[in-house]
Amino acid sequence: MSSNEFLSLGISAPVLKAVQNLGYEQPSPIQAQSIPVLLSGKNLLGTAQTGTGKTAAFALPLLSNIDPQQKTPQILVLTPTRELAIQVAEAFQSYAKHIKGFHVLPIYGGADIGGQLRGLKRGAQVVVGTPGRMLDHLKRKSLNLSQVKSLVLDEADEMLRMGFIDDVETILSKTPAESQRALFSATMPAAIKRVADKYLGDAQQVRIQSKTQTVERIKQQYITVKAHQKMDALTRVLEVEQFDGMIIFVRTKSSTVDIADRLQARGFSSAALNGDLSQAIRERTIGKLKRGQIDVVVATDVAARGLDVERISHVINFDIPYDNESYVHRIGRTGRAGREGNAILFITPKETRLLRSIEKTTKSTIAPLTMPSNAQVSDQRIQQFTEQLSKTLETPRLDKFREMIVKYVDENDLDMADVAAALTYENQKERPLFPKLDTIVAPRQDNSGKNRDRNRDKDRDSHKRDRKSKDNFSKDSAPKNTRAKSERIIRDEDGNEVPMLTYRLEVGKNDSVEPSNIVGAIANEADISSQYIGQIILHDDYSTVDLPDGMPDEIFKTLKKARVRSKALNISIENGGNNSAPSSRSPRPKKGPKKVKSASRDNSSKRKTAKNDGSAPLKKKKKTYTKKDKLK
Ligand code: AMP
Repeated sequence: MSSNEFLSLGISAPVLKAVQNLGYEQPSPIQAQSIPVLLSGKNLLGTAQTGTGKTAAFALPLLSNIDPQQKTPQILVLTPTRELAIQVAEAFQSYAKHIKGFHVLPIYGGADIGGQLRGLKRGAQVVVGTPGRMLDHLKRKSLNLSQVKSLVLDEADEMLRMGFIDDVETILSKTPAESQRALFSATMPAAIKRVADKYLGDAQQVRIQSKTQTVERIKQQYITVKAHQKMDALTRVLEVEQFDGMIIFVRTKSSTVDIADRLQARGFSSAALNGDLSQAIRERTIGKLKRGQIDVVVATDVAARGLDVERISHVINFDIPYDNESYVHRIGRTGRAGREGNAILFITPKETRLLRSIEKTTKSTIAPLTMPSNAQVSDQRIQQFTEQLSKTLETPRLDKFREMIVKYVDENDLDMADVAAALTYENQKERPLFPKLDTIVAPRQDNSGKNRDRNRDKDRDSHKRDRKSKDNFSKDSAPKNTRAKSERIIRDEDGNEVPMLTYRLEVGKNDSVEPSNIVGAIANEADISSQYIGQIILHDDYSTVDLPDGMPDEIFKTLKKARVRSKALNISIENGGNNSAPSSRSPRPKKGPKKVKSASRDNSSKRKTAKNDGSAPLKKKKKTYTKKDKLK
């Protein structure tokens, strides 16, 4: 099995070469379905979330059809956040590595527009960006959409939630009517379907169907970790888990070798198993695993298909599988022959949705696993050390050593415990019994998924979900200003009550600020899900916005500096949190405030219900804004 499968899908030679270089073994299900459709020029409506390989699903076919000589944008990708814009642009860059003269340009708000203007002038075949900044460029006439052949809306439901859908429609209407269009969304709410009907016509629909499958006898857990700390997290898990044989699943052939090597260097007997290895080598590796000559095999899906080794007590999904079916296949490698099995899934914050979808398919709850602490690793090493010591004490060949030590202790008038401690110290230098491991930061969960704050959840079986902490807010990080009481309560997607606090932003109607600019800045800069961005009221020279109570200082500082329309937000708590009466620093606006957005809305059309009567928000208790009320 090889990237021949990609070849048979029809992607161009330079793109295929890049895919081979990246070590992709086979197309993911969403890729297998989408690539032929997009290569044929048809429109596509895809239900897919992060982690399914959706970026390559559109990037590979669209890149296969570009004209490298043509420097005006041919492919336009709209993303809800700048992080995703950067990520998608990087993916395009890596897939286009062998296309001469290729340029991709990410454009998003909050970044210097000068660089983007220069980049657009220089020319780029692919432009990836957030809707607000794209509109800016369209207004400035710096972005020419006349040659756009394909347009992709990525994470369309997030764009809707963030209030960008009107901007998206404006951009869509400015691309050539005959251009190809693809829309990817994790969910298909009515507003997205409407956009799809209007702009995608009879698009080919692509979705990964998954049958419900039960997984018995397998204890399933997950651990959330940032991508760059996965290896450290894996090492810790391996240190504290009591395992016999283990399979670690990764996505690429190159990762199988890389991780197996690194584990070997850390003292775990491991080997790689991938489709590039000859059948003989693969069989030899599996034989060694069966006989206990190695304990860990790092494999791709293809290579581990059908693998049946009784002593596999653990399956680790180091990279999340693309679809639920392959999750079930993977974890089915453990719990063989009536034994108990363990499955541990590593997820990055962005992949939370996939976790939920796996739970749904398998009709099971996957419990959060707490990142093994320094102390746990230490305890485990001490236990192993003492076990080894007990075994060594039974060795009959100790006599000569005992005599030598007794003589040494007598001659130097030493305490035997001191000598034993010194020997232990020498012995553990390579693998310290009291290690100082690098801190693994518990990442914030993704905005779009269900919250699982693993680190706070001491009770593995309770599965309490603390949505607030996921989005940067937690009880531990309440603002220092305790006078600021939450008056508004909103309900999040799970129906949890979220107390809100009103904040003041020093940008307003006079700065030509739109609510979507504010939502975009807060969502992007503070990584706060749009569902937690409550009512926004635009005044002439300032605005107010409701955000969850308990904003950590770090985010508060970030938001102070964040800019909208080149002006710093300079966020502060509005009137000690007592709603939106204008503070003493800003006289009551002559015109009524514009109430533009409510947290409970899931449809941007509500943005249009702007109130201009100046009533409700100003009727609330007025309180003079004092310096004391400021957090910083
Ligand atoms: P995405 O769902 O687009 O965010 O992709 C998730 C991850 O899967 C990225 O790190 C990709 O590099 C990786 N990936 C995508 N397609 C493949 C493939 N066919 N084989 C191996 N890895 C892949």
